[in-house]
Amino acid sequence: MICGYDLHAHSTASDGTLTPTELMARAAAAGVQVMALTDHDTLAGLDEAAKAAAGHGIGFVPGVEISVTWSNQTVHIVGLGVDRHNAALRAGLDRLLDYRHWRAQEIGRRLAKAGIDGAYEGAKALSNGTLVGRTHFARFLVQHGHADSIGQVFKKFLVSGKPGHVSGDWASLEEAVGWINGAGGQAVIAHPARYKMTRSKLRRLIADFTDVGGAAIEVVSGSHSKDEYFTMARHAGDFGLMASAGSDYHGPENPWMELGRLPELPPGCRPVWHNWDIAA
Ligand code: AMP
Ligand code: MN
Ligand code: MN
Ligand code: MN
Repeated sequence: MICGYDLHAHSTASDGTLTPTELMARAAAAGVQVMALTDHDTLAGLDEAAKAAAGHGIGFVPGVEISVTWSNQTVHIVGLGVDRHNAALRAGLDRLLDYRHWRAQEIGRRLAKAGIDGAYEGAKALSNGTLVGRTHFARFLVQHGHADSIGQVFKKFLVSGKPGHVSGDWASLEEAVGWINGAGGQAVIAHPARYKMTRSKLRRLIADFTDVGGAAIEVVSGSHSKDEYFTMARHAGDFGLMASAGSDYHGPENPWMELGRLPELPPGCRPVWHNWDIAA
């Protein structure tokens, strides 16, 4: 059975390729009943998405995906049901956007040293102009023939040890969860199986997350294998956390990950939406 909820997706407000309006239209057409918008470190797409979702008669969850530095590693924390006018959340995200702005220019400088000119300007031109992420650099580098695919750009240029890598200096786990909870939302560890962590390190992350008030982990994710659904469901249960489901959709260029195809949560999970007003 297909899950009616999709609680993780991106628009042109961050590194997705569909506008919030286009994303909600596509979600509705694909049969998604409750759709979240969770752009990286910004709430800028939420007003538009809310209107579009209402127009299509689907449920809408205002969200965000916050970049966090935990134990010298970048992890992503999704906030669901956040109040987009909350001052502390907005101030925290503004700080991350300032850092992103500096980082994008720094990535450009480092790529220039490696012989690739104009990458910052090129990446910026592929973005909405305010949030320039690594995905925009990756698209620019593919377009200019520096790699065959987005995945290859990351491997060759953007990850640790490669010329365009800048190590992250994001929010702390406590800050991110605090901002989300303070804005009336629920914090969710995004795509936990994607971090290159040992089982014990991942369980340390989940324990720390639980201690600071985290609510759930993504059990079903567009980037998880079937086996990983079950492993993550067990971790959630062990820590008394709820389970979420999200595609992490970034646009139709990634045809292997389409909207409206997420399977239901494995049996025994307590869904993060179990007591929401908004039902699929
Ligand atoms: P940033 O937050 O700007 O550092 O960029 C992180 C984003 O880059 C993720 O949300 C993905 O959209 C994308 N990304 C990271 N690693 C990869 C990869 N190996 N292949 C494709 N996209 C990636
Ligand atoms: Mn992304
Ligand atoms: Mn992510
Ligand atoms: Mn994401």
